[in-house]
Order: sequence, then C-alpha cells, then structure tokens
Amino acid sequence: MNVLLIGSGGREHALAWAISASPLLGRIYCAPGNAGIAEIAEIADIDIDNHAAVIQFCIDNDIGLVVVGPEGPLVAGLADDLAAARIKVFGPSKAAARLEGSKGFTKDFCAEFGIPTAAYRRCRDASSALAYLAEQPLPVVVKADGLAAGKGVVIAETREQATAAVEACFSGAFGAAGAEVVIEECMVGEEASFFALVDGTHALPMAAAQDHKRAFDGEQGPNTGGMGAYSPAPVMTPEISKRTMDEIIWPTVHGMAARGTPFKGVLFAGLMITADGPKLIEYNVRFGDPEAQVLMMRLKSDLLPALIATADGVLKTFDLRWHDDAALTVVMASKGYPGSYAKGTPIGALDTARAVPGVELFHAGTAREGDQLRAVGGRVLNVTARGKTVGEAQRAAYEAVAKIDWPGGFCRKDIGWRAIEREKKG
Ligand code: AMP
Repeated sequence: MNVLLIGSGGREHALAWAISASPLLGRIYCAPGNAGIAEIAEIADIDIDNHAAVIQFCIDNDIGLVVVGPEGPLVAGLADDLAAARIKVFGPSKAAARLEGSKGFTKDFCAEFGIPTAAYRRCRDASSALAYLAEQPLPVVVKADGLAAGKGVVIAETREQATAAVEACFSGAFGAAGAEVVIEECMVGEEASFFALVDGTHALPMAAAQDHKRAFDGEQGPNTGGMGAYSPAPVMTPEISKRTMDEIIWPTVHGMAARGTPFKGVLFAGLMITADGPKLIEYNVRFGDPEAQVLMMRLKSDLLPALIATADGVLKTFDLRWHDDAALTVVMASKGYPGSYAKGTPIGALDTARAVPGVELFHAGTAREGDQLRAVGGRVLNVTARGKTVGEAQRAAYEAVAKIDWPGGFCRKDIGWRAIEREKKG
C-alpha cells in the first residue's frame, strides 16, 4: 500500500519512521515534509490546503491511505474531501474535529454526556464575559474558543489578568479563534496526555505520555508547543487509565456516534488527574507533538495496519503491543523560541548523535541546503531515546544532545524530571 502523510513536524517524522517499518508499505510520500522525513519518504510537492490537488496526487500515485498529522487540515475538512473522493484517510471529519477546533463545542458536549471536566461558561461578548468573571474565584482560566496554536489559554491569577485576557480575545488577538471565549474553573492536579485510536464506534487505548510546555528548566518561561515528553506517564496507573476509558473516552465515542458525527482517528485527551480522578482539560484530534515521538518509540506492533483498521472501522478485533521500556524526547529549538529567532543556522554531527544506542533523531524544522542541514523553524530536532526507565532514556537522549553541533540551538536539561524523581523514590 502507498501512503501519503500530511505534515512537516517531528510528529510526522516519527509517524513516517513507524510506517516505514511496515511490511505492508509500498511507497511513502509526505507533504510538505522536512529534511529528516526526506531521508525516509518521498517529498510530495503539493499544497496541502488545496484539497483538489491532494486528491489528484492520491489518484496519480495510487495512494491507499492518507495519514493526516496536524489538526489544521482536519478542521479544514481534508478528511471529508478525501472520503468523498473514495480515498481512505486516517483522521476525523470536519464535524468530529470540532472536538479540537472549538473548546465551547467540547465543553457543551461534555456537559451533555456527563464527561468530567472543569465548570465553564461560553461568552460571545466582553460584557457578559466580564460579568461572569466577576463572580468566579481565582485563579480562573480564560480561553479563546478556536485554534490558537496553544497560545489562546490564560490562567489568570488576578482579576486584571482575567480582564486583559478577555479583552485580548475580543479585540482580535487570536483572529476568528477569539470570537468566543470560554471561562473555566481552574483544576488542580497532575497533567497527562492519553491516546486512543477510535474507529467511529470502538476505541482502543494506546498509551499515555507527559510533556513539558514551558520553554525553560524548572517549568519556567513562556509556553511553547512542547519542549519534551516521555512515556509511560507514572500518574496514569492502570486504575486511572481504566477510569479515563470508562468516564471520558467511551462516552465521547458513543456521544459523537449518537450525534451522527462519529469520530475516527486518534483521540488525544489532555487530562488533569485530580483528587476526584481524571478530568478532561481538552481534546486534540491528532497525535501530540512531541508525544507521538515517544509513543512511536514504544510501539512494538506494526502501526500501519492499526491506522488502516481505524479508517476501516474494524478496531474491535485489533490489539496493539507496547515495549515495557520508557521513551523520552528532548526538543532542540532555535535560540529565542518561542519568541523570534534566527533562521538558517547550520546543524552538524547528527550521525554521531544518532549512533548513541537506543537513540532516534526526529526532525521538525529542518531543511537541507546542498550538504548543509539548517534550522528553519522554532522547534527543530527531537532527540528521542528508549531505556529501561525514564532515567535511562533521559541519559541516552542527553548523551546524544551533547554530540550535536548546533550553536544556534538550545534545549531544556530537565525533561522527565517528575518521573525520574518518582523512580528515585522507588
Ligand atoms: P489547553 O490549550 O486547553 O490544553 O490549555 C493549555 C494548558 O492550560 C493546559 O495544558 C493546562 O496546563 C492549562 N489549563 C487549561 N485549562 C485548564 C483548567 N481548566 N484548569 C487548570 N489548568 C488548565
């Protein structure tokens, strides 16, 4: 089977790496891809926003499955257009992608189906938002309704911060994504990311991970797309995982099907593990980046048939096997990220880094200029390792990081600290 993968990040490199190992695979294409993906897939020169062009490429290249990595094309209806052209796709329809595309939609959905989540109010203008805010205890969470690349959430410690967040949304700081604001109770607990494949009616749990959103060590500095991750997540005990399936994932699968908008693809639940058990912070409708990198390192089964079974609606008879080992990924970013940063800085010595046992390098924002690899994005490399423990995986990952010759880059030095402290306590 020929596969077309949509996306250009470390997530897509990890997916391409896993799919490439499948004996079922014929050729793998990726659009737009990056320099690392280009080493294992053919880069397809198509505009992924032009759905007709994507469909034509699939017809011309006998594509048996399209795997959509990021949320943008899903929210834009790429899966619907492919399905209408009878091309098999891994990823939800536009209607089902609202679980990520609209926070207000998801909150109302949770209320309807009894899914545990923070108390909330949807507000369509500043005066009603400010009136509701005035009655809420602090801290309080203010969110732009739509996709804002992870930047649309403010945890306000003071009334002034809450007011400023509301005003920023309604003054257009997030464009159309801020036309509605969701105000939420601030939940307390430890966060984890939980992944399940869903085929419309059946859900198959994958694994859990934890990520680090802040730019600097000790969870300091601005929020980013993610500076590192590890799996498994110690907080996701078998009991909490079962409760997550029973109380959050299954009601979502049944509710979406009952509404006539069945969810197909991977459901990524951002969870807060509170004193009362797991509660949903938010849904994403695709693999996490950088969580996919650690998930793919731990997946023992062939990924490709699992993606096909999801698209075909036959997950009920499917199973996935995982390595007991832990995996950890360190994101290397351009100095200055998530603010402004220099583009085009040269990167070297990746082969030496890759030679560290247990290590895989996934590329995010890289491009090749002749023989020279260059950084062209904020998040640039994912140095990923497997080990018996999170501590072992961390040691291998940082050994590889130390070998990379990239003066223009930086990374956090403490990825996995929470799990490693737990491991030390035994
Ligand atoms: P989101 O984009 O919805 O995942 O929010 C980004 C981050 O804000 C989450 O990963 C949490 O750390 C935090 N957050 C969002 N909503 C809440 C909430 N209701 N209570 C506590 N923290 C939250």
